[in-house]
Amino acid sequence: MEAKTKDLWVYMETEENGTAKNVGIELLTPAKDMAAKQGGTLTAVVIGSHVDAAVKTAEAYGAERVIVVEGDEYAQYSTDAYCHAMCTLIEKYGPSSLLIGATNDGRDLAPRIACRLKTGLTADCTALDIDEESGNVAWTRPAFGGNLMATILCPDHRPQIGTIRPGVFKKGDPADGRAKVIREEIHMDKKDIRTRIVELIREMESDKVDLEGAEIIVSGGRGVGGPNGFGPVKELAKALGASVGASRAAVDAGWISHSHQVGQTGKTVAPRLYIACGISGAIQHLAGMSGSGVIVAINKDPDAPIFGAADYGVVGDLFEVLPVLTQEVMKARS
Ligand SMILES: Cc1cc2nc3c(=O)[nH]c(=O)nc-3n(C[C@H](O)[C@H](O)[C@H](O)COP(=O)(O)OP(=O)(O)OC[C@H]3O[C@@H](n4cnc5c(N)ncnc54)[C@H](O)[C@@H]3O)c2cc1C
Repeated sequence: MEAKTKDLWVYMETEENGTAKNVGIELLTPAKDMAAKQGGTLTAVVIGSHVDAAVKTAEAYGAERVIVVEGDEYAQYSTDAYCHAMCTLIEKYGPSSLLIGATNDGRDLAPRIACRLKTGLTADCTALDIDEESGNVAWTRPAFGGNLMATILCPDHRPQIGTIRPGVFKKGDPADGRAKVIREEIHMDKKDIRTRIVELIREMESDKVDLEGAEIIVSGGRGVGGPNGFGPVKELAKALGASVGASRAAVDAGWISHSHQVGQTGKTVAPRLYIACGISGAIQHLAGMSGSGVIVAINKDPDAPIFGAADYGVVGDLFEVLPVLTQEVMKARS
């Protein structure tokens, strides 16, 4: 379809309590510059039930306009209802670009919209830019197993759509923003929603990991040698008030759950401090953590590639280094 405007939309996914998920807030950061370059209005789209909190958040983080669709049928995500709402809005307003968080639901929704509107989708982006003249978004994402970064354009179709990984962009500072809020009545009969949630199985409290929002992460790789090897990693993390991350090798070995995985097929993180223990520094791991503020690597191989990405490196056995580090942190804290 043709774009009717130069507007750039950000889909603000919500939690069940109607608050905005972090990824939508993060996306407003690059979206502000992109919309300004493109000369369009930065619009946040909020779909759900009782989502006033998310609307306020979108205003505070820089949306100039917020389009809201509310109804009982949106209380829980369903592909049919959300796709119907989003496509109806796009057909009415004709935005030029749409950014969606690459969450489980975002990864489900985006291709469905792209397919229905016969436009392009670039999935799982890690960087964004826009060409002022053409308005084409330069969507950058890892390709060929993370060995190179591909920049993809969608010059012939609109809206151009992309999903962007949580944690790639940082939240801006909230301000006293005022946006034009438009409420649209779009409904779908519940019987037309072809999927039904039978049961929600919550992650066990002990498995919950907030890597994307973490200020400090201590990660373990194959070098920890087994599930028990995560003991010293977890102890340092506890002393620092940090989250525990892992390389794919450790996850694939079954030593820790996938929710801890950092990297191209795990989470993209940007903590202030990232401590990599027994991780070699494969490109697919670096793709998920190279945006960290300070990187510390502990590895017994002085030639490990992780040292090329690290600000500080300790060549040594993690089982000797970590307990000393933990003790020093505890001393400093007390
Ligand atoms: C398509 C694709 C997607 C991928 N996605 C991801 C991803 O999301 N995340 C990811 O991490 N990987 C990913 N990988 C895998 C990646 O290529 C590497 O295989 C993986 O990162 C290696 O994990 P590692 O560094 O823990 O293990 P290794 O490469 O085996 O490194 C272990 C390191 O531990 C060190 N070591 C051993 N013992 C000790 C000790 N006692 N003390 C200190 N150091 C020690 C060794 O010197 C070595 O450097 C992906 C691969 C592909 C092809």
